[in-house]
Amino acid sequence: MRIGRRDLLTGIGALGMLPCCDVEREGPDEGVCNRPERADVALPKREWLRGARIAGLSAFADATACDFAGDLDRMADERVTVVEVDSELSSYLDEREFTEQLRVIDLVARESHARGMRCIAYWPILEVLTSNAETKTNTMSKDHPDWLQIGIDGNPNVFVGGGGRAFWIEPGEESAWLCPTSGYVEWFLARLARLARTAVDGLWGDVPLLNDIVGVWPCVNPSCNARFRASTGHDAPSSVDWDDPVFVRWVTWRHQLLWELEQRIVQRAKQVRGDFEVVIETVTMDYNAATMQGLDGAYADDGFVHRVWEVDAVSDASAMRDASHLDWSSMAVMMKYARGASGPRPSWVFCYGKEEADAERVMALAIATGSSPYETRIPEMNTSVGSAYRKRMYSWLERHPEILLSTSASSVAVLYSSTSRDVLDRARAVGLYASTNANDDLWWSNEESDSALSTEYVADFRGLSTLLLDRHVPFDVLTTPHANADTLARYEAIVVPSAASAASELVERLRAYVDGGGSLVITGADAGSYDELGALRSRPMLLDALGVEASPGAWSERQLGRGRVLYAGDRLGRSYFRSKDGAVADAVAGFLGLGIDTDAPQGIVFDLRWAEGGELVVACANLAGLGAQGVGTSTPRRVTLSCAPDVGPRRAKTVIVTRPDADARDTPIPFESEGTRIRFSFEVAAIAVAIVAFER
Ligand SMILES: [Zn+2]
Repeated sequence: MRIGRRDLLTGIGALGMLPCCDVEREGPDEGVCNRPERADVALPKREWLRGARIAGLSAFADATACDFAGDLDRMADERVTVVEVDSELSSYLDEREFTEQLRVIDLVARESHARGMRCIAYWPILEVLTSNAETKTNTMSKDHPDWLQIGIDGNPNVFVGGGGRAFWIEPGEESAWLCPTSGYVEWFLARLARLARTAVDGLWGDVPLLNDIVGVWPCVNPSCNARFRASTGHDAPSSVDWDDPVFVRWVTWRHQLLWELEQRIVQRAKQVRGDFEVVIETVTMDYNAATMQGLDGAYADDGFVHRVWEVDAVSDASAMRDASHLDWSSMAVMMKYARGASGPRPSWVFCYGKEEADAERVMALAIATGSSPYETRIPEMNTSVGSAYRKRMYSWLERHPEILLSTSASSVAVLYSSTSRDVLDRARAVGLYASTNANDDLWWSNEESDSALSTEYVADFRGLSTLLLDRHVPFDVLTTPHANADTLARYEAIVVPSAASAASELVERLRAYVDGGGSLVITGADAGSYDELGALRSRPMLLDALGVEASPGAWSERQLGRGRVLYAGDRLGRSYFRSKDGAVADAVAGFLGLGIDTDAPQGIVFDLRWAEGGELVVACANLAGLGAQGVGTSTPRRVTLSCAPDVGPRRAKTVIVTRPDADARDTPIPFESEGTRIRFSFEVAAIAVAIVAFER
């Protein structure tokens, strides 16, 4: 498994010999740059996390303002609003080295502020690297063996790098994975408090997870086991046994363990400075890495923690250039998941690209689904597919803040359940993407058994979501921590794929939702068979609550209260994901009756949102034909659509179509009103957005 990425080894000096003043610097600025350090500039107090346009910068010990002035000037010109500064906090630093890192980060933050940009510091939370580990007396694992994660097999979670997928670890470099209940955490928090006293605006915290590169189901060290016992009354398991209820309880508890760590981090940081923000890089999306590594953005509401979702590409060599159409659908669903799991908070996502043509399709998906882009060139973080490309996309977003500063106008939600994924998929397959590729060592997996096609929960969730994408039904992903009565009430229909686990309160809320007139699509003969912690019940509580007979089979529909239920005992979302069975889709689309009326082909992704000024934002990303044809052969599509936004008696006044294309101008286009519907057509290359304004 790949996880976060570092870009440690570009730039000045060799990291093998960490910081220090005797590193000889050679650069174009050497000797000519004489830039006095400036005091920090206070930026206007407006919310900068929402609508952010993000990019990364490497910085090193001993750096001066001259070393990165050029890069920061360029980033400001590219209309970047948030600079992620990646210094050397990944490394095992002594006091003098850490102090030097704080100086550099503070300097980059002040220089960013002087150019109107925010700055947040990259820091892997539970991984610490030590270079040349074998020859050094002091490494993290040698100094603090009791801080290491311990796998369920009894082995410490530490290894020495040398090629392969963990490409950020140099040969001879130690990668130590630290336990979230050990003394390490206090050590980290004390240093974090010092970071919060610099000019930097926040922490970009990577990898707060239980890593499985060499670790086997960490962590069962004494402090974690004591915590588990205190929390659940059980002794921690000593082997992987999915039929053991205590093991399943432990799997779900690991999500809580990491969530509590994140909450401690944000509390400690905000004790120092209320406006210091914590953004967690979250690589585990909707697939089974969340089960294996514990980090799970769908486990609980995040409170003051924000997330930047690392939506991986299929290949670290070629990004999405050779992705299949199902891979593209999977990415679209992950983007929807990112937006949805972020709840009321803004969502940031990685947009990995190799060349502009593929990169733009990925960023189009991010923007069209409502997330802020972090632009970078695969496989590293502080790179770019191209400055002109980034500037073109980010300038467009700057001119149209309403595109990201908008809230969903979808009338359908797909419910996502973390524990259902745990208990149904049992982490058997990774499930990141559908395709595997034996010819590419840097493909996400070479094992067919890892494909999302061979999963249960992930395939059912992805399949029903893909079905909605294919039928042009705008939808949101709703994770169970956000599925309260008020949120459910915003939607005309809720799609509930394979909710094997459901809290009794959620079951009651879903029943009340249907009684009140809502429509529910539900799959799986085991819906509600487990509680929210993964404990098996005697009956499928959700099906019982809906008066549905638990049986395998295809769709059946029934009235319930003032609402309706469409139920299939089979995981028909999974069937659709695997075979694109048109009958499955017809049944769901017919039941919902809520799609955009359009002549667009499959692969055109629509999203409907409300801008703060009351305009309807119709975002449209073009994935049509991808998978069958390469990304380089992008053909603009003309799509005609009509929709019926809920604006009461107000009539549409103007429709303006805007695109980031090099030659594009914002153009008012003709439209027709048909009762409450509005109909218009426009062209989309990678992305186009129609902004509909209404009469007051
Ligand atoms: Zn532990």
